[in-house]
Amino acid sequence: MSKTILPNSTIGVFGSGQLGRMFAIEARKMGYRVHTFSPESDTPTGQVADIETCAGYDDLLEVRTFAQSVDVVTFEFENVPAATVEAAAEFVDVFPKGEILHTTQNRLREKTFLSSNGFPVTPFRHITSLEGLRTAVAELGTPCVLKTAGFGYDGKGQSKITSSDDIDAAFTALKGAEAVLEAFVAFEKEVSVVCARDQNGNFAHYGVIENHHSNHILDVSFAPALVSEAVYADAVEIARNISDTMGYVGTLCVEFFLSSDGKLVVNELAPRPHNSGHLTFDACVTSQFEQQLRAVCGLPLGSTEFYRPAAMANLLGDVWANGEPNWTAAATMPNVKLHLYGKVEPRAGRKMGHLTAVADSAADAARLVREARAALQPATESHTR
Ligand code: AMP
Repeated sequence: MSKTILPNSTIGVFGSGQLGRMFAIEARKMGYRVHTFSPESDTPTGQVADIETCAGYDDLLEVRTFAQSVDVVTFEFENVPAATVEAAAEFVDVFPKGEILHTTQNRLREKTFLSSNGFPVTPFRHITSLEGLRTAVAELGTPCVLKTAGFGYDGKGQSKITSSDDIDAAFTALKGAEAVLEAFVAFEKEVSVVCARDQNGNFAHYGVIENHHSNHILDVSFAPALVSEAVYADAVEIARNISDTMGYVGTLCVEFFLSSDGKLVVNELAPRPHNSGHLTFDACVTSQFEQQLRAVCGLPLGSTEFYRPAAMANLLGDVWANGEPNWTAAATMPNVKLHLYGKVEPRAGRKMGHLTAVADSAADAARLVREARAALQPATESHTR
């Protein structure tokens, strides 16, 4: 039985980035209070939360004080240490559960969970030594991808091994970290399913979203993805089964590689709202952030219906390379919406905000959102296409 956390209650959020910010916006719209906890201050989440605690995740005294001051805890950053979540869970429910966080914050544990439950993943090997890496490369063949097991995102901590000559450098780059070697997937496209599961096991999803990356960072997403009905059904079914198997509560993103013969393999799981689901904020009855809120508060999930096909383009710090972007240019496009995360320093590769667009088709929405981004900063746009 789920416990209902009603409006006016306080939701605790571990992490303080843009995902927490958009979660907090939705929570405040519905009359909840938000308390964010992270090692930083004046953060994207803190700027819209009611309370911002600035303390280390290893400061368990502060974690316990935080947990006692909120009605339920969720997170927007999955690398919160297990001990932090356990300390919070002494006082209050944490959703998704700590075990799920533990599984998904490490590629080896995540891939082992997926493959041992029969979900499709690319062949992989656990790497702890140079000798082990040589054997694994021989087994999986080249090209293959070496990834650190923990704390990897947006291609960080990854190297592609195209021949045995790359092995030594790839191993050295690990700097002693535990790693996973993955067979390379010659995918046709990358897609994701953003979905949510409530405390009673009800499931909702936003269909299949198509994702285009640039330099390993998500660049443009659009929905509905241009995939066959069979692929759509398969992707949603896999996401549903993963969330059921985990006993998941909250918003989950399953990222897939899709090969030209229609085969899906799971690349990774994000146990939280995901960048590819940002378009749900403007295009759907219920956004991925509101679903997270509903799930952790024990409320029924909302409708995931799309008002119109939609697209999202990330705004990285690079867009600021020639000075302040021309916001008026984007604002003159009536079906384009601007989201900025309140970050002051526009470093290259840093996610500063995004644009969304709606149109009659996903392809048109994608075109429009790219045009809008180009209008912000024509001189720097071309390289991100
Ligand atoms: P990840 O951080 O694991 O999501 O990887 C970032 C990006 O690198 C993915 O979105 C893919 O574009 C690419 N990539 C990662 N793993 C593989 C793989 N095994 N085969 C092919 N491309 C990959």
